[in-house]
Order: sequence, then structure tokens, then C-alpha cells
Amino acid sequence: MELSQKLSNSLWPACVESTRQIEGSMKKTLVIAEKPSVGKDIARVLNAEIKGKGHAEGQSFVITWALGHLIELAEPSFYNKEWQRWALENLPMIPERMKLRVIKNTRGQFNLIRKLLQRDDIGEVIVATDAGREGELVARWILILSGWRGPVKRLWISSVTDTAIKEGFRDLRPSRKYDSLFYAARARAEADWLIGLNVTRALTCKYNSPLNAGRVQTPTLSILLRREKERAEFVPKDFWTIEANTGALFWQMRQPTRIFDESEVGKITDSLNEGKGKVLTVEQKEKTKPHPLLYDLTELQREANKRFGFSAKHTLSLAQSLYERHKVLTYPRTDSRYLTSDMQTTLLPRIESLRFGKYDSIVGDIMTHGIKVGKRVVNDKKVTDHHAIIPTGERFDFEKLTLDEKKLFDLVARRFLAVFFPDKSYISTQAVLEISGRKLYAQGIELKDAGWTKVDMETETDEDARFQNLSQLKQGEELTIEKVSYKKGQTEPPPRYTEATLLGAMENPMRFVKDPELKKTIKNAGLGTPATRAEIIEKLIRNYYVEREGKNLVPTSKAESLLEVVPEELASPALTAKWEKRLARIERGRERAGKFLDDIKENTARIVKDIKESDREYTPRAVPGMKCEVCGGPVMEVQDGRYRKYVCLDRQCGFEKYPDRPGQRDRKKGRKEKSMEKQMMNKFSDNADASTNLGELLKKALEEKKKK
Ligand SMILES: [Zn+2]
Repeated sequence: MELSQKLSNSLWPACVESTRQIEGSMKKTLVIAEKPSVGKDIARVLNAEIKGKGHAEGQSFVITWALGHLIELAEPSFYNKEWQRWALENLPMIPERMKLRVIKNTRGQFNLIRKLLQRDDIGEVIVATDAGREGELVARWILILSGWRGPVKRLWISSVTDTAIKEGFRDLRPSRKYDSLFYAARARAEADWLIGLNVTRALTCKYNSPLNAGRVQTPTLSILLRREKERAEFVPKDFWTIEANTGALFWQMRQPTRIFDESEVGKITDSLNEGKGKVLTVEQKEKTKPHPLLYDLTELQREANKRFGFSAKHTLSLAQSLYERHKVLTYPRTDSRYLTSDMQTTLLPRIESLRFGKYDSIVGDIMTHGIKVGKRVVNDKKVTDHHAIIPTGERFDFEKLTLDEKKLFDLVARRFLAVFFPDKSYISTQAVLEISGRKLYAQGIELKDAGWTKVDMETETDEDARFQNLSQLKQGEELTIEKVSYKKGQTEPPPRYTEATLLGAMENPMRFVKDPELKKTIKNAGLGTPATRAEIIEKLIRNYYVEREGKNLVPTSKAESLLEVVPEELASPALTAKWEKRLARIERGRERAGKFLDDIKENTARIVKDIKESDREYTPRAVPGMKCEVCGGPVMEVQDGRYRKYVCLDRQCGFEKYPDRPGQRDRKKGRKEKSMEKQMMNKFSDNADASTNLGELLKKALEEKKKK
């Protein structure tokens, strides 16, 4: 039976009964979703009934789901008993072929999927995991370890509304088409294993301190530290600015704007006080400013951080919930800020769906003027896997969203509506006044049409002019200076990174690369991908390399110490950006993953050799005057969530104290911390026994090393 026919049976149950009698021995199709929630949505659309915890079954379809990754790359000891021990002489660990392993905690779900795949009546698989690199990997690894050899198709959707799911099932694609996406995903995972595990072990063993490094997190950290160094070296300078009034108008001295010599200030103000000036020129320019582009994930994270102080991770989880749970926004993990031309017909229903509350009058406004879309909205060449984040067009109860979900939805909805508004247009006027041989400048802006700024907030303005009306001013006119004033200022160091600015730097790390040839090769390559950047920042915070101070991200002394011992090659954004670019090429089928991994292996071996042979010293920065209450040694200060924490520099001692919460949590681990450790262990250790914590593991490893 044709799949399309099976599908129509499921989608229109009325005709199901008759076909059922004809097709006695019909084979079923197994659909694998990434998460239970999406699996259940698909089951509902396909009229399948939920059976127990792990799957749903209907007439033609069996639907099941992963719980994120169910399979991972096997840990070192899986290859070689010797590798269980953390020891310098065992490094680098470079397996000939990487092996897979079922993740212990979710083994039950994997076994269930494998059983379903082994059923005689399953004839075909539809991969319905998230439409991206990681989603592809989730499904392929399951199919590989289950030994599935049958046909596979791919469901590729950008919204999880019922309509989108139905349309996706009518437009299933051959799985083959996504082979290179899988190769890129696998290469990414293997590269992270090789670099992360080897470098972390090498540093930890060499310096007797838990130091983790990674392919993306280390260069990101080095960007933060570079700024910190610039700030430390910065010497502030005093300067003065001069302003004058003629009636209601303000004039500024611009050449130079800042005067660094105090003795000049008096001379200049004296000369300006001499009374009358003459208007040299009055220049008017009509200017327009088009609406900003639609949101991709990075831009949405930046904007939400600027406006609401949301962390990148918080924004991602809100966007994920609006996509998956409420079904009101499209797929968030996108790096495109455009729509495809075949979406044009969907725009009207999407706009109409926003006819409520504060958007009602905006929608009305668009309807009166008609929907026009330009190249800044629709551009097929600038959409690869997913289009920009926009509303799905699903009707919903806005009041059911949480406060933060409302805020994020509002950003996306307003930006989406704004693109149907005309440019902002205004008249910018600049006038020059000459007095005693010096020039003073006045600038004015007169708004003609607010355009899209009526709907979406304008956060970046390129005109820093005062809103003053210069329309009465005439060339040649004489004006009397009424008041001259000066202000003292001080030059400021470059600001610390916020999540918004760091995301920008990770997206475009080119500016940190000096070599022009290298610049060319890594053009458009970033650190990590939009989908992973939030997690990288969180990881740096979790590992005590970075602290949040309000909106600012501040590297800790631990970060400083780490970067002193990490080989320059790994700390530089250039290498990672180059790798990321190659992964993108693999994804597009333009490069072989094998070649890339050979290079990664070579890099790994070289970096490990560097660390082994290095004579650099690791100098943890101790808190002055503080002593460990257990061993009497130095301690360092780190931030644990909202609390400061003192940690003994000797990890084998393990002493830790929360000075702001005396007695409460000293030396005990909170539940959250424990589960984090479990995750870290899964990633970085060989002992899968979740009852031991990472500290103990490290301790064991170090003790063994000492025995030798
Ligand atoms: Zn101690």
C-alpha cells in the first residue's frame, strides 16, 4: 500500500474502515520523534492511540519517541581498559573507529524502540526528530544500534501545529537527502570527544586541578579574557566637551569634539563668548530607515538580553516552549533571518491570527494598506534548513503564557508585524555656525513617518542628534551666543561583555583574527552554532570560569589561570572557527567527514603533546588571607548560583564553604549540582556509576597517578 494512501487513511479516518478490510496484512510505519510531547502531537494528528509510556499505535502508524539522545559515543574505557585511568602517559586517546553506547539512564526507552523496530509488521521508518543537526544524529544512532536495514523517510517541519504536521507527512523526504547532515553531526560529536576528553584529561593530570577545556568553550573564554586584559591595561584620560546656546538652539564643538588639554578649554570658551556668530550652512537631508530583519535565534537572544536581561539559555527555553508546547512560534534553532517565497501565501493567515489585544489595531493597519513583502523578508538564497522565527498562525489564549513567554512572543510578533510597515522616514538637518574662526554644529531631526517604529522598538539609532527644530534657520543669519558651557568627561575602557555582545562575538569571531589569509578562509564562520551557544555560556558559568554580574559576564581568576596553561592553538578562535566552517561544508556535502576527523586527530595529538611538554605553570589565584578550614591551604572564591563559595585549591581536600549562608550548605552538594555532575561524568569520565561524584573520580585518578 502506498504511503500516501496510508496517510490519507490516518488523516481522514472516515475512509479507514473500508481499506482496512481490503488490506489484511498491511505493514505499518514506525515514526520516531525526538521527545514525548512532539510524539504525542504526531500521534494525535495520525489518530493513533497512546499505549503506555513509550509509544502510540494506530491503524497504519506506530509512533514512538526518544528522550533527546538515547545513544552516545562510548567512553574511553570501552576501547581500552588502560584508558579508564586518568594518566598523562595514556594520552592522547585516539580510537581507530568511534563506538556507540546506549545511555544508561534512558536504556528502557531505547530497548522499547528497538523492539518496535524488530516487529514483523513494521515495514518502514519515518524520522521525525528535530529538523537539525542534532535531531538527525538522535535518530540515526538509534537506527544504527538497532540494526534497522529497512527504508527510511524524513519528516522535516518548522512548526508543530497540526497543519504543519499534516503537511509535513504529505511531503516526506527521502532520508538519503539528509545523509550529509548526519555526517556533519557525527563529525561534530567525535571532534568534541577527541578534543574535549583528551585536553581535559591532559590539563587535569598535568596540573593536579580539575581543568576542563573544549573545542568551543575555551576560545569563547579567551575572548572574554582578552577584553578583561584590555580593561586592566586601560588608562583613563580626562577630556572636555564644549557646547553653546543661541536662544533655544544647542551647538556643539566637533573639531575636535573632545579636548584633552585643560588649558585649551578656557581659551576656546573665552573666544566663543565674544558674541555673534554667522550661520555658514544649513543642510537638509531626507533619510529613511527600513525595518530590521526578522529574528534568527542569535538575534532574538541578543535582543531579549538587551531589553529584559534574559540569558541566552532562558530565551532558548522560552522559544522552545512557545514552539513545542504552545505551538505559536516556528522552529527556534535557526540561523536564517528570511522566509522562503513559497511561504508568501501563509503570511495573511499568520497576520490574521494576531488579531487580538494590543496587536489588533496593528493588524488592522496592515490590512488597510495591503501586504507588501520585499527582499529583506523573502529571500530563498538566505534560507538553508529553517526560515526566520515567526508566529505559526495558530490561534491561542495569550493569557495562558507565562510572563516571560509573553515578553518573548511579543518581541517576535512585533518584529513580524513591523516588516509589513513602510520605512521610517525623517528629515535630518545639520547647521554650521562660525564664530571667531571656529565652527559649531547643530543637528535636528524632524520625523515625517514613524513607519515600522510604530510597531517595533528601535533599539539602535545611528543619529545621536537632539530633537530640535532647525527649520527656521537661514544661511547667512547672525546669531548671538548666550551661553558657553563645558563638561568634563573621562575616556572609558571597552565594556565587559554581556550575553548579547558575547553572542555577537561568537557569531563573528573574525575581528579577533589578525592574519588576513586566515580571515578569508574563516569568513562567516562562528564559534559553535546558534543552537549550542547558550549552552556553551552556561557551561563556562557552571565550571566557575565565568560569573554573572548583573548583565555582565566576568571571567574568574580560574579562567585566567586556565588560559595560561592552555596551548595557544586551542585558545584562539581561529582554529575553532575553521573547524566550524568545515563542519558546515560537510553538512552541504562539499567535504568528506573522514578528512576532517583525520585533521582533528592530528590536532588533538599535537595539543596533548604541547601540554605534556609545556613548562608553563598553573597558578590558581588564592583569596588573600583566607585559609582552608580543613587542610590550612589556600582557597579560591567562585560563584555558585546566587552565592559566593570558597573552594580549597586542593581538590583532593574537597573543602568548600558558602560565606553568605553560614553552615547551610558547606561541603554538601545541592540536588542541582549533583545532577550536573552526573551529566559531566557522562561526558568526561569513564566510570558510569552515578553514585560517585566527579570530585571523587578525579581524586581517585590522581591517587592512582601518585601510586605509580
Ligand atoms: Zn583544603
